[in-house]
Amino acid sequence: AWRMRGLDVPRVGELTRLMTMSAWNLLDDWFESPQIKGALAVDGIIGTWAGPATPGTAYVLMHHEIGDAGLGLSSWGYPRGGMGAVSDALKGSAEEFGAEVRTNAPVERILQKNGRVTGVVLLGGEELEADLVVAATHPRITFLEQLGREELPDEFVGSIERWNSRSGVVKINLALSELPDFTADPGQGDHLGGAIELAHSIDYIEEAFQDARRGEPARRPFSDGVIPTVFDRTLCPEGYHIMSLFTQWVPHEWSQEPHREELEAYANRVIDGYGELAPNLKRSILHRQVLGPYDMEQDLGLIGGNIFHGELSAEQLFHMRPAPGYADYRTPIRGLYQASSATHAGGGVCAIPAYNCVREIRRDRRRARLKERLTLRNRG
Ligand SMILES: Cc1cc2nc3c(=O)[nH]c(=O)nc-3n(C[C@H](O)[C@H](O)[C@H](O)COP(=O)(O)OP(=O)(O)OC[C@H]3O[C@@H](n4cnc5c(N)ncnc54)[C@H](O)[C@@H]3O)c2cc1C
Repeated sequence: AWRMRGLDVPRVGELTRLMTMSAWNLLDDWFESPQIKGALAVDGIIGTWAGPATPGTAYVLMHHEIGDAGLGLSSWGYPRGGMGAVSDALKGSAEEFGAEVRTNAPVERILQKNGRVTGVVLLGGEELEADLVVAATHPRITFLEQLGREELPDEFVGSIERWNSRSGVVKINLALSELPDFTADPGQGDHLGGAIELAHSIDYIEEAFQDARRGEPARRPFSDGVIPTVFDRTLCPEGYHIMSLFTQWVPHEWSQEPHREELEAYANRVIDGYGELAPNLKRSILHRQVLGPYDMEQDLGLIGGNIFHGELSAEQLFHMRPAPGYADYRTPIRGLYQASSATHAGGGVCAIPAYNCVREIRRDRRRARLKERLTLRNRG
């Protein structure tokens, strides 16, 4: 924010437009082709309970474009070995520094005394003492389930209760016996390694959102598809492929119930949509996995099925993420910090919340040491 003070009036104007306008309006300013606009608009609504016509989605588009996976601004990457390889690398690195990593050890309660954290209790009752706890869970889990409302300031509790975490994302994973052969660009080639969008235009995407807003699964869902096995042969046996489809929308209320049959019908419509473009796709599907908002909440702790632990809407960004007064990775409980995607710079696999959180922890520790030294000196 300090650097923004140096911006001149036209740049402040541009920034204001970017933060308040819709992805649709932004793309209309720069592009003519409905297909290009449709493909680019996908980044404006990924993981978001908002269509491309909703004000604020231009920011979401930018959020997804400012990453750099090593090939310059807005480049994306596939980790070799899949996303689990990222967790394994983090675990390996932590262990090299002497950490013990425990999995399948859900935290049931965070313990505090007089406003200072003292440890956690695991499911099953094991108690771990700690004067420093960093929570990377959804804020509703951390503050409304693992702590009691009465242990926190009312205003803060109100902010967390109002935290919007709606979604409507459905993830579809396909095991394929062969690569899809697209009529528009037949055969194998570089195009199979990029994003394969089922998003014919911005209207197409907006229509899918409006269906879900009315409480119906999208009749013509959009999908952001990738085939990581074009690059990474460690993911499946030779001769086969995996196609990963990130799709939207079903009603966000589906996080409350499995809706299995309707999800399968929805997945059929996504596959039919791709089938119109690549006629061999349907017969090449050996197996499919369909994960809706209910699965994401139950299995992954993504409340409401929101992939970012909270919507990227304007009222939930920067100093508001996840609550006014607590956007600096600290919490109302001393020694308890937060670093999930519901903090500033989340979501996405970017590590910025964790990096910033550690910086604040070190600052607090330095301050505490200084205070201790001054107290000792004054006493002496
Ligand atoms: C389908 C899908 C696709 C995505 N695609 C992309 C993408 O292409 N690029 C990108 O950058 N981001 C993507 N994201 C978003 C990205 O995965 C998240 O923003 C990121 O993983 C959030 O990291 P985190 O550490 O905040 O939380 P998480 O990764 O959600 O980790 C929180 C952990 O806490 C655990 N937990 C929950 N409750 C407890 C408890 N009581 N005790 C102990 N542990 C608990 C959970 O099991 C989980 O392992 C995607 C997400 C989804 C779901």
